[in-house]
Amino acid sequence: MIPEEDRGEESTEKEEEEIEFINRRLRLVQGLETLGVGKKVRQAMLRVPRHSFVPEYARSAAYADTPLDIGCGQTISAPHMVAIMCELLELSEGLKVLEIGAGSGYNAAVMAELIGKSGHVYTVERIESLVCFAKDNLRKTGYKNITVLLEDGSIGYSKYAPYDRIVVTCAAPEIPEPLVEQLKPGGIMIIPVGDYFQELILVKKDKKGKIKKENRGGVVFVPLIGEYGFKPR
Ligand code: SAM
Repeated sequence: MIPEEDRGEESTEKEEEEIEFINRRLRLVQGLETLGVGKKVRQAMLRVPRHSFVPEYARSAAYADTPLDIGCGQTISAPHMVAIMCELLELSEGLKVLEIGAGSGYNAAVMAELIGKSGHVYTVERIESLVCFAKDNLRKTGYKNITVLLEDGSIGYSKYAPYDRIVVTCAAPEIPEPLVEQLKPGGIMIIPVGDYFQELILVKKDKKGKIKKENRGGVVFVPLIGEYGFKPR
């Protein structure tokens, strides 16, 4: 058994680490304002402890604005990229969102903050150990309005379709047709498209089902692997 006084020291160290993480998160999120990230998204990102979504060895780097390794050759996206995607998605209370590429569960958590308790995020991941990682991270941080699913997300997830919003966090060779079909009229999808040279494409489906695409600039993402994605290399 740990003596009383030592336990006290241990918990003080933990508390100090938490305070340091909160300060780093604040500085990171303040920096996002200069990139044009709005208040709602910044406030959501302030509420999500990114250090709880990375492996132990990467915790000290959790508030650097960079992607980080999460194992299996995959990454948690850079905070500015999460922020930009959330802005483009125009997320609001009560929306139903499909994410392809759960990874660590971090992006899903930020979106869950933006759609509130009356909304729901379905996030699909093809690597089983990452499904466990994301579920574990989301359980520890207390998110209840997120469902993590082990599937090939390149075909979407028809069971809960149509979705108000779809976000793909890996790069597709082309926009997968099933994702366009599973987007609600009036819905918005954001998806990186390309191989070595990738572009972030904003897809809007109007009330009559007509599709409009807009190129929002160059990006770098890991590939979407699957039926409507790339073949495993
Ligand atoms: N959104 C994640 C986060 O917040 O940590 C980051 C995602 S990481 C950049 C991209 C993820 O897409 C990887 O975990 C990868 O395994 C996953 N992925 C690739 N192809 C997929 C597919 N067909 N279906 C589902 N997930 C896929």
